[in-house]
Amino acid sequence: MAIKTKDEYIESLREMQPTAYMFGEKVTNIVDNPRLRAGIEATGATYEIAHLDEFKDLVVAYSPLISEPVNRFTLPPASIEDLVARVKINRKLGNYVGTCHQRCTGLDCLSTLSIVTYDIDQKYETSYNDNFIKFLKYMQKNDLTANAGVTDVKGDRSKGPGEQEDKDMYLRVVEKRDDGIIVRGAKAHQTGSLSSHEVIVLPTRALREEDKDYALAFAIPTDTPGLIHVVGRSTLDMREMEGCDVGNTRYSKYCPTLIFDNVFVPWDRVFMCGETEFAADMVIRFSSFHRQSHGGCKSGKIDCMIGAAQLAMEYSGTSRASHLRQKIVDMIHRAETLYGCSLAASYEGKKEASGTYFIDPVMANASKIHEGKEMAEATRMMVDICGGFVADLPSDRDLDNPEIGSLLKKYLKGAEGIDVENRIKLYRLAEKLSLESADTVSDIHGGGSPEAHRVTLMRETDLEEKKKNIKRLAGIDD
Ligand SMILES: Cc1cc2nc3c(=O)[nH]c(=O)nc-3n(C[C@H](O)[C@H](O)[C@H](O)COP(=O)(O)OP(=O)(O)OC[C@H]3O[C@@H](n4cnc5c(N)ncnc54)[C@H](O)[C@@H]3O)c2cc1C
Repeated sequence: MAIKTKDEYIESLREMQPTAYMFGEKVTNIVDNPRLRAGIEATGATYEIAHLDEFKDLVVAYSPLISEPVNRFTLPPASIEDLVARVKINRKLGNYVGTCHQRCTGLDCLSTLSIVTYDIDQKYETSYNDNFIKFLKYMQKNDLTANAGVTDVKGDRSKGPGEQEDKDMYLRVVEKRDDGIIVRGAKAHQTGSLSSHEVIVLPTRALREEDKDYALAFAIPTDTPGLIHVVGRSTLDMREMEGCDVGNTRYSKYCPTLIFDNVFVPWDRVFMCGETEFAADMVIRFSSFHRQSHGGCKSGKIDCMIGAAQLAMEYSGTSRASHLRQKIVDMIHRAETLYGCSLAASYEGKKEASGTYFIDPVMANASKIHEGKEMAEATRMMVDICGGFVADLPSDRDLDNPEIGSLLKKYLKGAEGIDVENRIKLYRLAEKLSLESADTVSDIHGGGSPEAHRVTLMRETDLEEKKKNIKRLAGIDD
């Protein structure tokens, strides 16, 4: 059976032995660490919903490659319907977990490799696509999760990879052997790397001919020797460690820095090695797919913020305030335009030479620019509606304190008939939705910085066609 349950997924992570550090200490039990577990639970939701009546028709699809049903998170799109399903699942999941489910990046990498390995082979008669198909079958048969190792640490941004004082600022091959390659470097902001079975590495930027050592794509298990996960801080992480005031009682997100300290990659796991002219294509395709994914999950997160704002009005006695109702309308409008843009990118998708479908990159990038600004607006409106307790609500520990707990509960009451405990829980969740750095910074930088979206928009838009039409209308003949 190719489709794992959530419990099987979690147990499969227990069998892995990744090298991980957090807050200065080595973490040996990943699955039971409360901070990491909250992220694992979010990815676990992608397994859970494949078995729920409400979702399974959307999430489970047939794979001709292994002649079995699979979870769509292992299925590169082979039709417009598949592209659309990606967005719909992401919206439902964004709403279901109220944060990032962390499994879309792996599918975005699989979808990219499915196109580009084929194109490289056509040009160079290499066998990267065979390697990739073998890997994809393994991912599908075992219903695995991968994270995306794309963002290099990059050192001095004014210099290219080969111009850096320290040549390891971009991940590179340091040795080629008969059985594989040795790679060295580091990838930053690795969403859910310890919730993943595999890390798929792609280049982070377009490369020049002299940067051959950096033109790399491959996949390795996340517990490969030499791979070190250093879990980063985020605003509310200690709440998860202490098990107090977490807000979202089920799910969270974490993003390690991943160091590749002379890591061995066998040749059959290598999907690009030295073909510099395909690096840009890898990046554009991955980031366009990923920006389309964001349009789905982030509109789902706005759905959560709308729910929180509406409940806050009911709990505080402001449901009839017309200026707040107007803000709810403005939040709905933002969720739907973001979702619409991402869906449109899917409906305008096209079949590539490999048979895999690619979304419309102009619409996917327009969607991401929209997200960067409008998620912040939606958050601002939710905070406006909820009020100041999003910032400074007393801790559950004070609410439970025998000396002051009852006084606090008396003064934190809102509308008549509303349980004060529920009002407190809601404000704590609103705090998590608005101030969790791993989520709010990803609205801006996830899938590339805002300027990267603009550069892609400019590159992918046919300006000549637009000029031609203006000349026809103006009667310009030249
Ligand atoms: C929460 C979160 C999750 C993420 N998850 C993942 C993930 O799972 N996998 C992954 O691979 N990546 C991930 N990313 C990384 C994301 O793609 C990067 O943050 C993004 O590409 C920006 O890169 P940077 O953080 O290195 O910032 P920088 O590159 O330092 O950019 C900072 C600013 O400088 C500008 N800039 C940088 N270089 C130049 C230059 N040469 N010329 C002009 N302007 C420049 C940028 O446009 C930007 O405005 C994640 C990021 C976040 C915040």
